[in-house]
Amino acid sequence: MKHYVRLLILSSLLIPFACATAQVKVFACEPEWAELSKILGGKHVKIYRATHARQDPHRIQARPSLIARLRNADLAVCTGAELEAAWMPMLQRRARNPKVLPGKPGYFEATDQVRLLEKPRRLDRTGGDVHAEGNPHIQLDPRRIRRVAAVLAKRLQTIDPKHSNAYQKRWKAFDKRWLDSMARWKQQAKPLQGKTAVVYHREWVYLLDWLAIKRIGSLEPNPGVPPTPSHISKLSSLQKPDMIIMSPLNDKKPATWLRDKSGGRLVTLPHTVGAVGAAKDYFKLFDTIISRLLKSGT
Ligand SMILES: [Zn+2]
Repeated sequence: MKHYVRLLILSSLLIPFACATAQVKVFACEPEWAELSKILGGKHVKIYRATHARQDPHRIQARPSLIARLRNADLAVCTGAELEAAWMPMLQRRARNPKVLPGKPGYFEATDQVRLLEKPRRLDRTGGDVHAEGNPHIQLDPRRIRRVAAVLAKRLQTIDPKHSNAYQKRWKAFDKRWLDSMARWKQQAKPLQGKTAVVYHREWVYLLDWLAIKRIGSLEPNPGVPPTPSHISKLSSLQKPDMIIMSPLNDKKPATWLRDKSGGRLVTLPHTVGAVGAAKDYFKLFDTIISRLLKSGT
């Protein structure tokens, strides 16, 4: 009996260790990719979240702790299109991990899998535009997320062929639930079609495109450039927007100022998973966005 108990203790110590070493170590640049990797990878992935929802992914410091995490990663899942231009290339240089370099299976860029909106015809960085390669904020378009999920599931299969069937199964389950949810969201959001919006940063462009809401201006004169009084004045002389959309990261002052001058409703929406308490997973994120838009735009 004593021997049996000892064996039991020993095996219970060994089994979690064996599982832990077999997991794919994912370095997720933004919360939305951590969430998608978790949905598709389940117990076969171990996720490190490089940034959280209260950080601006355009402006992250290449801290030593991030370098150490990337050094041990099997797969880095990022947005790309220069969203992480200020920190990811530096991390990749310093981490010296050949698995996660551009062009390797261990480096996945979500924007590489879809067509981007606002792609400039010529490269122009004057005025501090941080979207010089096109709008990188695809995380708010369920159609593009569906495509990204399909390719990411395949990538996990390539990196961890032993669990190929599990990834395929998880992707299929996600895709079914996602398609059902997309149809429901679209139906719920019908009253929003044709409404007009001024956005703070242009991270809402894909969402508005999906919901057929018309963007009539942005509080930032150029992506990443803070609103100026003259720009707000110009905006307020245009048509009255139905809504002014900002994220919890934005400065409320210029948005309130525009609201007071031009009218329309000011609505703060979660821009990623976890940005507000009600947006704790990818499905809840869109539930929250749609319900907040309906409250403010109808
Ligand atoms: Zn941006």
